Amino acid sequence: MASATKGDRNPSSGKRVAVVGAGVSGLAAAYKLKSHGLKVTVFEAEGRAGGRLRSISHDGLIWEEGANTMTEGEHEVENLIDDLGIRDKQQFPISQNKRYIVRNGKPVMIPTNPIALIMSSLLSAQSKCQIILEPFLWKKHESSKVYNAYTEESVGEFFQRHFGKEVVDYLVDPFVEGTSGGDPESLSVRHSFPELWNLENRFGSIIAGAVLAKLSAKREKSRETKVSSEKKKRQRGSFSFLGGMQTLTDLLSKELEKDELRLESKVLSLSYNHDSKSALENWSVSYASKGAKRLQDSSYDAVIATAPLCNVKEMKITKRRNLFPLDFLPEVSYVPLSVIITTFKKENVKRPLEGFGVLVPSKEQENGLKTLGTLFSSMMFPDRAPSDLYLYTTFVGGSRNKELAKASTDDLKQIVTSDLRQLLGAEGEPTFVNHFYWSKAFPLYGRNYASVLEGIEKMEKNLPGFFYAGNHKGGLSVGKAIASGCRAADLVISYLESSSEDKMLKGSLP
Ligand SMILES: Cc1cc2nc3c(=O)[nH]c(=O)nc-3n(C[C@H](O)[C@H](O)[C@H](O)COP(=O)(O)OP(=O)(O)OC[C@H]3O[C@@H](n4cnc5c(N)ncnc54)[C@H](O)[C@@H]3O)c2cc1C
Repeated sequence: MASATKGDRNPSSGKRVAVVGAGVSGLAAAYKLKSHGLKVTVFEAEGRAGGRLRSISHDGLIWEEGANTMTEGEHEVENLIDDLGIRDKQQFPISQNKRYIVRNGKPVMIPTNPIALIMSSLLSAQSKCQIILEPFLWKKHESSKVYNAYTEESVGEFFQRHFGKEVVDYLVDPFVEGTSGGDPESLSVRHSFPELWNLENRFGSIIAGAVLAKLSAKREKSRETKVSSEKKKRQRGSFSFLGGMQTLTDLLSKELEKDELRLESKVLSLSYNHDSKSALENWSVSYASKGAKRLQDSSYDAVIATAPLCNVKEMKITKRRNLFPLDFLPEVSYVPLSVIITTFKKENVKRPLEGFGVLVPSKEQENGLKTLGTLFSSMMFPDRAPSDLYLYTTFVGGSRNKELAKASTDDLKQIVTSDLRQLLGAEGEPTFVNHFYWSKAFPLYGRNYASVLEGIEKMEKNLPGFFYAGNHKGGLSVGKAIASGCRAADLVISYLESSSEDKMLKGSLP
């Protein structure tokens, strides 16, 4: 492993941990546990690791069927990249600040500063004034501090209070659809934008709060003496890796020995058996493997589950030989999405755009557009297609268009071709098409999401040594999933250390 193994000095060293799911959160957790000297076994239902990081290389093309880019907003991501020693594999998109939103059927560049906002044709003069005057004009939320599915404020309501309806329709709607497949009316602001929700609680105005928070972060940083010059020079913003996002999970998988990563091993049940002589080695895992129906794998001191909650709900959990029913876990709603890859000969694209991509507000369906948005994948990363082709990644579906997400490849090809013709002047048929359908692309952080988080908490509280991580908790992005996995690994480490200390203490008593 790239980082030094700290095992010998740890009371938890040599303890065994089972990780369920080899998505990025499970692999990040396993990496952290292993570098701490623990023994890990990762169980993955599919025949490949990576989960929603899924990069395909074929015939000179590289495309993504899952996540396309990530950011380094969480310090756990920064540490992981440094510990793995893979800075040289990071790939930053060309002109990533050029991003577009469709207005009146045409792509308009998203303004990135106040002057560009004033000049932009994306919003009316009234909305521009409302943004500039938000520190003075924003309105308070009426409901009480008791949050439930009825009083919980939606993303749409929150932004409308601060910036007005047009901002919701033309900035917030395409952003949330493009990043979570959700819609502003269904999503809870407290769970989807916790940072902005907290800013309002602290400062009232989001704009004033953001400026003040940035200034105080700057002051904090200038006090820190050890910000290396290398760190300061680092490029910021979204990035991928050479070969695609899956390079990250491939490299994390390589850090595991063959018997530490069990592919095609779907976990069916988890049993917690408390033995009064020992506080640890309490968990056993049973799983189905290719060719064998049910296999038992015993003796784990702790478990981290990172499988989607709908899959955890299907597992049989027993506690001291009694069934521990998970019926208190609420049903999570999931958003379906189709990802369609197309390539066009460059000479056939009459109005190509440089930059990251274009988002389509749902209001623009009135102008005949049906897709959620398109990433200009080979514009961002020219090595993703031969030099005479443009490669595009288009998303269809989401919470507003669930049926469309399920459409056939032929129908989706027609929809994408028609939208790209209108937006970019892509003429004729694409030279290549690939379609990947996610029936449960994202969990929807809806207005009842607090009850989901309470359910997760209850599960962890009642099952000693069981921890839950991944994108159902704390954020949907790759960075947030990594942070969640790393935090679960930290909790396991402290749990095992405190259990070992208890054991030693008991042993030394007369
Ligand atoms: C189309 C799409 C585009 C996206 N784009 C972006 C983006 O550009 N940027 C960004 O930051 N995020 C993006 N995301 C979100 C991001 O990819 C995910 O939130 C993140 O990868 C989730 O990681 P995870 O480890 O929590 O879960 P997953 O990747 O879902 O991993 C969970 C794993 O558990 C396994 N599993 C399930 N049940 C069992 C079982 N019983 N036993 C064993 N294993 C089991 C699954 O097979 C899976 O491999 C995108 C997601 C999708 C679907």
